[in-house]
Amino acid sequence: MKSIRALTFDLDNTLWETDLSIFKAEDAMASHLRRLSPPDWMEGFSLDTFRAVRKQIVEEQPAIAHNLTVVRRETLIRWFENQGATKSIAEKLASEGFRIFYEERQKVEPYPDTVETLEILAKTYPLAAITNGNADLMAMPLGRYFQFSLQSQHFPKPKPDPVMFEEALKRLSIQPNECLHIGDDIEHDVIGANRLGIRTVWFNTRALVIEEDVPADHTITNLKQLLDILK
Ligand SMILES: [Mg+2]
Repeated sequence: MKSIRALTFDLDNTLWETDLSIFKAEDAMASHLRRLSPPDWMEGFSLDTFRAVRKQIVEEQPAIAHNLTVVRRETLIRWFENQGATKSIAEKLASEGFRIFYEERQKVEPYPDTVETLEILAKTYPLAAITNGNADLMAMPLGRYFQFSLQSQHFPKPKPDPVMFEEALKRLSIQPNECLHIGDDIEHDVIGANRLGIRTVWFNTRALVIEEDVPADHTITNLKQLLDILK
């Protein structure tokens, strides 16, 4: 792939396993909120009950669905209001809960070979990130390999919409066919980037599912395989 001049990466479940870090962050958030609020307000709080309220919020306000920060805050506010908290108390608790969640959520464990591979790639290519999540890559140790990271919460629409891909191409000053996008989500990453003419690598992170007819230029099961593709 000689014509490739820059690489863009998805983050969650591409550079690290997300579910584990989110699970730990939600646990830390719940413990923190239990310490701050009257015992009965958090009595029925669990992953399931939290998700049920979140589903309701997203159904009521589909326009905020791509902004996970706002969705989480609104969900917490609704939770505490449902328990009888005033709007202002609910907002304060939501801010505290989100603060702890966000802090913990950034403590991700990169997949094996991720650091090593990025280190090699960054010597040859500008690297950028495009995420639908709220990971703050540039504040993480991994951020040192990247020029920038685009989060969907700062854009009108998340991937697979072209808006973030277009912004990345503009900032990298390259044409779509000079860009290789790597991600684990077939719709958001592969189909989204493909539609613009960006070359794609589907990272079958979990290597569990055999997908036929994935419209990606390449499929990998370990990030290191990128080095062979780019030879
Ligand atoms: Mg992903």
